[in-house]
Formats: sequence, structure tokens, C-alpha cells
Amino acid sequence: MQKWADEMRARGQSIGFVPTMGFLHEGHLSLMKRGREVANLLVVSIFVNPAQFGPGEDFEDYPRALEKDLALLEDLGADVVFTPKEEEVYPEGYETYVRQENLPNHLCGLSRPVFFTGVATVVAKLFHIVKPHVAVFGEKDYQQLAVIRKMVRDLNFDIEILGGPTVREPDGLAMSSRNAYLRPDQRSSALALIESLHLVRDLVKKGETDAGKLLDIAREHILAKKETLIDYVSICDPESLVDVENVSGKVLMALAVKVGKTRLIDNMILTPSKKE
Ligand code: AMP
Repeated sequence: MQKWADEMRARGQSIGFVPTMGFLHEGHLSLMKRGREVANLLVVSIFVNPAQFGPGEDFEDYPRALEKDLALLEDLGADVVFTPKEEEVYPEGYETYVRQENLPNHLCGLSRPVFFTGVATVVAKLFHIVKPHVAVFGEKDYQQLAVIRKMVRDLNFDIEILGGPTVREPDGLAMSSRNAYLRPDQRSSALALIESLHLVRDLVKKGETDAGKLLDIAREHILAKKETLIDYVSICDPESLVDVENVSGKVLMALAVKVGKTRLIDNMILTPSKKE
């Protein structure tokens, strides 16, 4: 992979990169289309990264469909699909990790303590292996995108990071490989995420600024659905991810909800209506 990247760079080609864990859907493909637009060559990686799963999480069960993914990537015209083996990425004796001080202390980091160290570590490794000029990540994983942008700044990676908008099913559910876990009766409960985002967005547009009130309304809406368990619902500063009490400017609303055993996340940027 590194040799190919060096050769392409020597020929003056630009490399776009989209890292994934496979089981590809339209959300992934939209990032790849963006990658194609901004670089001459497109590299996609498929690697279910054990370092980002905690004990008791779904590493073993995570859906995998390599043959189908490869066919999709062939149609899309990816130039390289990089599918390293676990023992190549983390050979015996591996002991170096990228850990951030602050961003992981919010939102998903609280219930998934190893997640962002696992993500930052594997993305740093993939950046050194694939040597991209530009890499594209989904805004659906807002905190992950923030962690990567910060890592790139802090560690001086010479790589441009682009965010791609969340791709949704026709009814609004954010596409996710984990949606495959949902039984048909759980599928309607999963709409609690986008519905509560819309509910709060509309209230903010009408002038409600009390974050506590907005969160109560969102929580009530989510818990009214069958089999839902809230991990967090947060209205926070879009840069620091610190909770806000008042919606006085642009804020991030982010949430993680378990539907049965399936943990789903979603988010939206909310902008209050301007006061006359
Ligand atoms: P994953 O395979 O879940 O690790 O995701 C790989 C990349 O696809 C990450 O940058 C995700 O943020 C992005 N992604 C996942 N779901 C979506 C979606 N529904 N819309 C846009 N990007 C997404």
C-alpha cells in the first residue's frame, strides 16, 4: 500500500481516502463520491478495528459482507480497496496509541471509554499507510470527525479532512451498518432519534432557548417508543462538545439511544431564529 502511494505521489497524482468498517451503504458511498471529486485516485479501506470496541460490545457480531462490498467498490471505481488483516495492523507486541485529553470526555466517549483512542490510533496508522492528500469522514459520527480533525491539527498530519453530510433512509433514519441488527418492530422505535432532533429543531426555530426544557421533551419522546434506552441526549457547543444551558447561537444536538441491543447515534446542528 505504501509503495503504491509513493509511486502515485511521485507521478503527481492526488490520493483521496475513505476509511470504513465495511458493510457498505449509501452513506459510505456518498463519501467515496466526494473523495473521487477532490482527488485523482480513491482508496477505500475496510477494517473492523478491534481497538475501538470495548468488552461486551459487538466486535464479533459486527456485520461483514466483503464480497458484496468489493462489488460495490468495483462499480464505484475505487482505485484501491485496502483490507488489512488484524495481525498486520496490530502485530504481537503492539503498544502505541493516540489518546486525546478532552474531546473524548463527552457524548459517546463517556459510555465507550476506549472508542476514540481506538479510532484515532487506527486512523493515524491508516494515514501513514495510505498516505492520502485528502480524507473524507461522515458527519453522522460528529464526535469522531471532531476527534480526527483535532488529531490532524495536533500531530501535523499533512492531510485535508472533509466532512460529508449524513445520508438517511427515506423515513429519516440515519444509514448505519448497525441498522441491519434491527427487527422490523424495532425499526419504528429507531425513528425516535430523527423525530426528537426534528422536534427540538422546530422548537428552537420557534424561539425556545432553554436546553433543559428541550432535552426533557426529546427524552420523553424517545422513551415513549418501545424498547428504547437513552445513553445520552445532549445540546452542546459544536466545537468543545461541552453542554450548554441556553441555545443562544449555533449548537449541536447529539444523541445515542439503544433500541433493544442496538446502539444508534444521530446529530444535527441547530440554529436559533434571529431576534428582530
Ligand atoms: P463506519 O464503516 O461505520 O466506520 O463508517 C465509515 C465512514 O462512513 C465514517 O466516516 C462514517 O462517519 C461514515 N458514515 C457512516 N454512516 C453514514 C451516513 N449515514 N451518512 C454519511 N456518512 C456515514
